[in-house]
Amino acid sequence: KVAGLGLKKSHNQTAESDDSPDAANPAEASLLMKIIRQGLVESKLDIEVQRKDPNSPLYSVKTFEALHLKSNLLKGVYDMGFNAPSKIQETALPTLLADPPQNMIAQSQSGTGKTAAFVLAMLSRVDPTKNYPQVLCLSPTYELAIQTGEVAAKMAKFCPEIKLKYAVRGEEVPRGTKITDHIIIGTPGKMLDWGIKFGMFDLSKIKVFVLDEADVMIDRQGHQDQCVRIHKCLPPTCQMMFFSATYDSAVMEFAEIIVPNPIIIRLLREEESLDNIKQYYVKCKNAEEKYRAICNIYGVITIGQAIIFCHTRKTASWLSEKMSKDGHSVAVLSGELTVEQRIAVLDRFRAGLEKVLITTNVLSRGIDIEQVTLVVNFDMPMDMNRKADCETYLHRIGRTGRFGKAGIAINLIDSPQAMEICKDIENHFGKKIHLLDIEDAEEIE
Ligand code: ADP
Repeated sequence: KVAGLGLKKSHNQTAESDDSPDAANPAEASLLMKIIRQGLVESKLDIEVQRKDPNSPLYSVKTFEALHLKSNLLKGVYDMGFNAPSKIQETALPTLLADPPQNMIAQSQSGTGKTAAFVLAMLSRVDPTKNYPQVLCLSPTYELAIQTGEVAAKMAKFCPEIKLKYAVRGEEVPRGTKITDHIIIGTPGKMLDWGIKFGMFDLSKIKVFVLDEADVMIDRQGHQDQCVRIHKCLPPTCQMMFFSATYDSAVMEFAEIIVPNPIIIRLLREEESLDNIKQYYVKCKNAEEKYRAICNIYGVITIGQAIIFCHTRKTASWLSEKMSKDGHSVAVLSGELTVEQRIAVLDRFRAGLEKVLITTNVLSRGIDIEQVTLVVNFDMPMDMNRKADCETYLHRIGRTGRFGKAGIAINLIDSPQAMEICKDIENHFGKKIHLLDIEDAEEIE
């Protein structure tokens, strides 16, 4: 299922020790989301068009037929099980496929159909009778490039004449060779080597330039400069496409460099909310008492599945050992695991093989698992200044409209500092966090 991933260790492994805060690395988090996702993330919100060219009306489509794709490409789209364009695709595709080509900056959360949109645009722009690269797609990492390439290969299933090449580590082309494939998907360093340093293809003949996961890209040392260097060699007629899951000012500054006269579209993320969540805190003296609190809670309420968040790997593994010894079936997900191991853990948990998932901040954002009814903050989420991290709290506890079922959140408080964080969070969201007397836990049901 994760072809090409290899068994690369997470780079967190060497960088962090067990008792420093465990956090997600954006490239890995993005990859993990892609792999564990099951289908499209639907949104009830509307597309926001931020800037448009007054000379070319922006229209949207409700069907793939309306795009007038080559028939074998349309066949490939349907073969992937796509019946109708996703929300972002409805607006993005007519623009991406328009003639004359238009530049686009598109932002929407992961899972909304961006990759499928630009891959379709890439494939439909290729002229397979010309045997040189016409489309470049830059991804932030090896693994993400492979993921995109696999989507392209699937969609081009009935277009065997279109040739695809990966410009990633491990791929070698003998010096002096000219690349004849139509599409190159790769990381900026390798693309720069092949295109500029070794002249293996002609950048001035590129028709489409895609920058994927731009927010992850700028997070990686040197990538932004490499992208800009490649970009400088492209012809002015080249169509630029820029995709990002987030939309902060750093990403937008980068976008403005890469994409002249863009149409900018955004699909806002559905807000998470605490509305259906009953929130409690429990006073504990130390970690041992926190552990007993969890056991007590388990004794009195029927729980579907639970996720317990810890600050460090050390706490996570300590807690999992204790709970296992007491006969609970627990899974642990933390930063030292490889991507494959993380996927395996999440697959098992999703299948209900373990009832409890103990994790660190590697899982701070959205695994919407419907059966999860209890979230425990073994440690309160805090930022680098040891202040309340309200955003992370919301990601851990909150639910989007999709899985708006009622849930319970319990915060374990073992210090005045933790209590202060809890109060700050309560004030921030304006939602009461109730004191729970653990000897009397029946009251929470
Ligand atoms: P993003 O790039 O925004 O993360 P993807 O293009 O990877 O989103 O799409 C997310 C998931 O939805 C993938 O599993 C993809 O196969 C699927 N998908 C994309 N477009 C459609 C569609 N029009 N209909 C059904 N499923 C789709």
